[in-house]
Amino acid sequence: MALLIRNALVVTQNDQREVIPECDVLIEGNQIAKVGKGLSAKAEQKIDAAGKALMPGLVNTHNHMAMSLLRGYGDDMVLQEWLEKKIWPREGKLKAGDVYAGSLLACAEMIRGGTTASADMYFYMDEAAKAVEKSGMRANLSYGMIDLGDEGKRKKELAAGEKFVKEWNGKAGNRIACSFGPHSPYTASTELLEKTGELAKKYDVKVQIHLSETRKEVVDCLKQRKLRPADYLEKVGLLNARLVAAHCCWLRKEECGLLGKHGVSCSHNPASNMKLASGGVMPIPELVQARANVCLGTDGPASNNSLSMFEAMKLCALVQKASRWDATVANAQQVLDFATRNGAKALGMNAGSVEEGKLADVVLLDLSSPNLVPSHNIVSNIVYAANDGNVSDVVIDGKIVMRERKIVAFDQKKAVEGAQKAAAALVKR
Ligand SMILES: [Zn+2]
Repeated sequence: MALLIRNALVVTQNDQREVIPECDVLIEGNQIAKVGKGLSAKAEQKIDAAGKALMPGLVNTHNHMAMSLLRGYGDDMVLQEWLEKKIWPREGKLKAGDVYAGSLLACAEMIRGGTTASADMYFYMDEAAKAVEKSGMRANLSYGMIDLGDEGKRKKELAAGEKFVKEWNGKAGNRIACSFGPHSPYTASTELLEKTGELAKKYDVKVQIHLSETRKEVVDCLKQRKLRPADYLEKVGLLNARLVAAHCCWLRKEECGLLGKHGVSCSHNPASNMKLASGGVMPIPELVQARANVCLGTDGPASNNSLSMFEAMKLCALVQKASRWDATVANAQQVLDFATRNGAKALGMNAGSVEEGKLADVVLLDLSSPNLVPSHNIVSNIVYAANDGNVSDVVIDGKIVMRERKIVAFDQKKAVEGAQKAAAALVKR
């Protein structure tokens, strides 16, 4: 099956960061076959993209999709109180079907916002995987493991994490990849973290973790381990290019150097960090200088409360500038790289740019939307002016998933109704 997209303003995100006007993109199977002007190819499907920009799909590198059911259920609260009084009691009552409903809702929201791939860490992950499979999206999924030092629990958690990787890695025609998800250095024991490193190597998969989100966890780590969290992760053998470390708000310069040296991906979640008042801001210039792979995420929809990667891009740029009194840091091109090329690299996907041989995960933006006019600089418009509503069409793995703002891969209305029902039942349970 071939799909020819004609006459788009193509934001390639290739090594030269070329932007090509009136350009065609030919997709064959699940790959981009050709990018160029005036392509004459026979294709079963054609899209006239005149007046539209074509860009690589956005990659969300930190998420808890099913938490969409708890969106707006508790806001404006101190982190610990929010977790103890609102989130944990409800999560304790979550059923498998809720995770399916919440994850499918999240996929619908992400597709409508131009996100073609997402990371995820949660539980009942079979259900999250089924939702991703149904949605047409690409994802890297992990079962979140927490043992709090309990040996019996550790064995169960590791077995569950391994079982999920074995069953789902490479499924849905390779749209689903799996990883290991030790929740954090403060909820997972040293033994759990060490074993995770071994298993990730054995299965050749990624590892997702939360790292240095709050100052408290840094202070506690120093007290308990006599090490800062990044140093501790190096000691347990988790610092390498497999690792996707979310948040990284409270890092010292030496830790940035360490994360860079090991090629770690650092997922910045500016909306969540600001909403939960994590205080620290990810030191992006230092991480970039150290050659860490900086990427972007939204975090779960209960702590954001949206899954918009356009918002994440804009907030990423703004919070760096605001916190450093320096308007030159985190420029638009850099931020777009975080959300595309670097995100794909973090999740081990051959995507993130519009080039021959890359996976065909691309989105179209409607350039006639008033907020995208004029188009002096399309990269600037994408980062600073665009929003989810500007996304008109989404192609994932070579298949049209949304056309003219209508999701065609699954029944959006049914997904929304299912999530509404599940959310209402969950808060009453
Ligand atoms: Zn998280």
